Amino acid sequence: MAGPAGPAERQPQKTIHVGGEWLEAVSGATREVLDPADAKPFAVVAEGDERDAEAAVGAARRAFDEGPWRRTSVADRAALLRRVADLLVRDRERLGLLESRDAGKTLEEGRVDIDCVADAFRYFADLVVGEGGGRVVDAGSDDLHSVVVHEPVGVCAMITPWNYPLLQASWKVAPALAAGNAFVIKPSEITPLTTVALVELLVEAGLPAGVANIVTGPGHTVGARLAEHPGVDLVSFTGGLVSGIKVAQAAAVTVKKVALELGGKNPNVVFADACATEEGFDTAVDQALNAAFIHSGQVCSAGGRLIVEESVRERFVAELARRAGRIRLGRGTEDGVECGPLVSQQQREKTEAYVASALAEGAVLRAGGKRPEPSEVRPATGYFYEPTVLDQCHRDMKVVREEVFGPVLTVETFRTEDEAVALANDTEYGLAGAVWTADAGRARRVAGRLRHGTVWINDFHPYLPQAEWGGFGKSGVGRELGPAGLAEYRETKHVYQNLAPKPVRWFAG
Ligand code: NAD
Repeated sequence: MAGPAGPAERQPQKTIHVGGEWLEAVSGATREVLDPADAKPFAVVAEGDERDAEAAVGAARRAFDEGPWRRTSVADRAALLRRVADLLVRDRERLGLLESRDAGKTLEEGRVDIDCVADAFRYFADLVVGEGGGRVVDAGSDDLHSVVVHEPVGVCAMITPWNYPLLQASWKVAPALAAGNAFVIKPSEITPLTTVALVELLVEAGLPAGVANIVTGPGHTVGARLAEHPGVDLVSFTGGLVSGIKVAQAAAVTVKKVALELGGKNPNVVFADACATEEGFDTAVDQALNAAFIHSGQVCSAGGRLIVEESVRERFVAELARRAGRIRLGRGTEDGVECGPLVSQQQREKTEAYVASALAEGAVLRAGGKRPEPSEVRPATGYFYEPTVLDQCHRDMKVVREEVFGPVLTVETFRTEDEAVALANDTEYGLAGAVWTADAGRARRVAGRLRHGTVWINDFHPYLPQAEWGGFGKSGVGRELGPAGLAEYRETKHVYQNLAPKPVRWFAG
């Protein structure tokens, strides 16, 4: 394996990395990357298509089948992952700023994202060196030796979204490399920059050429080709339900492995007993605000569905609406800004359409519901939208059933524990949910009944690299993070050895 290479010079529009070379798109096409805070372009990337995807899969295939990476020792693979983590820490400010400008999040959120990305690399390095490397199975005789081993799955295609561009990429790249695979990644066409930067760091850390390939470009060309390509062994997709279904359908033709991390419609269930003290009330309101509005609600696990006990509804919603109205919106790099813009014009229009449909269906607007006035920190051209609280919602409303992916919180109420659980589970998704209560027994009971991949008790949003992340229902297939997040990138093989072979004489002749 090559040693650390040092940062390489790359021309700005050469954002396609295939077989160790930084390239323009085969077609020569480029795309401007916009800053959602003012809708002005601030970078240019190559706009790849099927031909670039084809070349990248070919390079990954050769690197996997003939290259050194899959035969590199676990210790050396882990060492490379740790070098990548160190480089991420070194470049934290640069990458945090890039993520903030590209995705429209605050600079502090951008920095935290980079810390979490480094943590993912360290976690999978530790996990892979800490394992036993297979399992001996008792085959019932001293003459038989049976062992179950894990091998890399091969060439992995990774397709990622725009809300946590580098974090979502790292949950795929780190375990894939730890397991010894080669990959082609296609970041979202609207937020490709930090993923390009990550591939630069992988090169700098000494990853052999061809193991990490990136094609910047749209989903319907590059993504679709990767999903259907016979040279790809596994496709791991994070994004919306509609695109996820298309990826699964395309992948089915070649029966490749499929991992899907899709959307959510996540309930935040608040029992009155959680609000019995002033401190409890303040905490539950504060966390409900954070659950729904961090990153303008563009979070797959956003707690956009508040399900609150009827007896505390009015007080709870009044305080929530008051505080939502005080959230400081602006360009993520400005001091004092708490929430950035939506990522695109399309995303803001989609949010506006959901709010309009909710109001038409009888919801009551308690906060937001419009674009904010421009200000010194909020250019008029930016895609800002006010944090919005919609009261008196019910389960049949479109805004309650579908993922908004914007700063919109709906309020529903319940009277009994059974009713709360039924509402929280009444979704086709099942990514995450929370229960707020001062009653420890009720907390565990409700958590046990929620059909969601992550359940928080008296908290919202934290995740741990050691704990699996993923969804029930239409929130996806498979898990990222934790031991299962490494297993996604492996094949399991049973090797059965007969140390004293003899004829079986099944056939007499
Ligand atoms: P999206 O589905 O529009 O796009 C995701 C990726 O898929 C992009 O790279 C896109 O170019 C690509 N793509 C689109 N059509 C494709 C096709 N036909 N074939 C192959 N690739 C295609 O999603 P988005 O708007 O970028 O992201 C938001 C969605 O992601 C939300 O639904 C959110 O809940 C989900 N998400 C889920 C998780 C999770 O962990 N479950 C995490 C983050 C985001």
